[in-house]
Amino acid sequence: MLDAQSRLAEVKAAVAASAKSAARAPGGVTLIAVSKTFSADEIRPVLEAGQRTFGENRVQESEGKWPALRQEFPEVELHLIGPLQSNKTADAVALFDVIHTVDREKLAKALAREMASQGRKPGLFVQVNTGGEDQKAGVAPKEAVAFVKRCREVHGLTIDGLMCIPPFDENPGPHFALLRKLAGEAGVEKLSMGMSGDFETAIALGATHVRVGSAIFGARG
Ligand SMILES: *Cc1c(COP(=O)(O)O)cnc(C)c1O
Repeated sequence: MLDAQSRLAEVKAAVAASAKSAARAPGGVTLIAVSKTFSADEIRPVLEAGQRTFGENRVQESEGKWPALRQEFPEVELHLIGPLQSNKTADAVALFDVIHTVDREKLAKALAREMASQGRKPGLFVQVNTGGEDQKAGVAPKEAVAFVKRCREVHGLTIDGLMCIPPFDENPGPHFALLRKLAGEAGVEKLSMGMSGDFETAIALGATHVRVGSAIFGARG
């Protein structure tokens, strides 16, 4: 059995190899280690191995473990990759460095207000529901470009990129290609796409941020 440190090394090597074969700069892809459901004691070895960028999908769970880990590792960069309820906006702005799941007007407005009042400016991605799945968060692909524009012009937000989670049972390639096309149309540069099972495909199609959980931490219980 490999431990999390060895799996991290393998994932980093695979990310670098995918970037190279796509003729991408090695620094052009950020690996987000997705630590949701894992305890501080399970996360610490990955921090000790040098990983500093982490993803979580729940605000409350993150508040329970990251403030203490940050005392030990102050350079940690924390990404929120799960849905954000408007009533958790203040907590999210206080804790996270990047939020990947901006997907509606009410949330954009709440984020703008909190960012102004806290004087914090997390990086922002707009989530796109590329598969049009009812149960999944994200703006519809045909609304994505207009929504990015409204975030900028109505709410004064800087949107850095787009994020998607392709349907579980579909070939992810077309979803990643669609996200890249929409990012071009919206005039944003970053693409948060690719998870443990498909980050190599995502990098080939332009991912700048891959969100990898189980391939590093092992299966979630
Ligand atoms: C859990 C999660 C991941 C990581 O999934 P793995 O398959 O474990 O790599 C990536 N993105 C989001 C939005 C997630 O919720």
